[in-house]
Amino acid sequence: MSNPSILILPGDGIGPEVMGEVKKIISWFGDKRGLTFDVSEDLVGGAAYDVHGVPLADETMAKAQAADAVLLGAVGGPKYDVLDFSVKPERGLLRLRKEMDLFSNLRPAQCFDALADFSSLKKDVVAGLDIMIVRELTSGVYFGEPRGIFEENGERVGINTQRYTESEVERVARSAFELAKRRRNKVCSMEKANVMESGILWREVVQRVHDEEYPDVELSHMYADNGAMQLVRWPKQFDVIVTDNLFGDILSDCAAMLTGSLGMLPSASLGAPMENGRPKALYEPVHGSAPDIAGQGKANPIACILSFAMALRYSFDQGDEATRLEQAIEKVLADGVRTADLMGPEGGTPVSTSGMGDAIIAALDASL
Ligand code: NAD
Repeated sequence: MSNPSILILPGDGIGPEVMGEVKKIISWFGDKRGLTFDVSEDLVGGAAYDVHGVPLADETMAKAQAADAVLLGAVGGPKYDVLDFSVKPERGLLRLRKEMDLFSNLRPAQCFDALADFSSLKKDVVAGLDIMIVRELTSGVYFGEPRGIFEENGERVGINTQRYTESEVERVARSAFELAKRRRNKVCSMEKANVMESGILWREVVQRVHDEEYPDVELSHMYADNGAMQLVRWPKQFDVIVTDNLFGDILSDCAAMLTGSLGMLPSASLGAPMENGRPKALYEPVHGSAPDIAGQGKANPIACILSFAMALRYSFDQGDEATRLEQAIEKVLADGVRTADLMGPEGGTPVSTSGMGDAIIAALDASL
């Protein structure tokens, strides 16, 4: 059998720097754990525009469709701000998400004990936090028609439409229940069924998928505004939260910030299963290309490395190895190793991007 394949798209700014550390980690798993991947690399974003005149070439799109997992760094930068909207670096990322039909966006909010002081909330509220927000990514108000700015009765009116079909809700609900089975077996679905018909449909469909297919998973429903309050009041009550595109956009950013720096946040976007049973999948850090620190060796590679840990778990069924990697990161942080973005007011000497990668590899070696 051939090795599973990974397509690496480092992108722009700090993307290539943080991805460099992921490549070291991938090699470590090949050398020390016998987990060998067929790794190929290509261009996305501004880097692709510079060579091809488009932010994602057709051949790259075809490689992404065929890969078992795509790992992306980040796209964008001031150099490309003047470009026409149709060829902006972000369009490359949007094309990947759209054509791979990645409808389920996984945003974990996990608080490493060593960083609990970084949160704006009290330490006991966030220490040990481990929740997962599943956001529907390809439908809802960001895509519904009609949309636009129109003239009506002598003034302009802006219109967007929240629209969900039953099958769109079903598939993202299934993805949340499947995740919950691998975690603490609890799903909370969030909408506004009190004021939105799309919310009533969402609630009914999630409940039906639960009753018919996942009766053993604990399911609750919550209005999304209450959900926002509960996330900052006592986030540890949740395991998996499933919600629509708009509420998920807001709630996942809110949950992510419970845990501290942008340099720590991974994500996964999953689609339908391919022939080999693996879901179409794109893994990427939440942060952007950070032009203010690009090229200086200051970027924190942990978000990108944690995105690879998600790939190990969700694409390659290597949950134990994903945990090994997460525990190595936990150990490095507990030992006080910090990139500049993780320095507290007490100061200290930060390590470089590659210094952090090397420390994580040393912790992986120690785990054997
Ligand atoms: P950003 O995430 O790039 O940076 C925000 C701040 O966080 C900056 O101060 C940056 O230095 C810091 N930061 C981000 N990642 C870090 C890391 N790994 N380590 C240490 N510090 C880190 O957001 P921005 O400044 O709003 O956007 C910059 C560019 O990135 C823009 O062109 C934007 O369009 C693009 N962007 C891309 C993505 C993506 O590729 N998915 C996401 C967001 C923004």
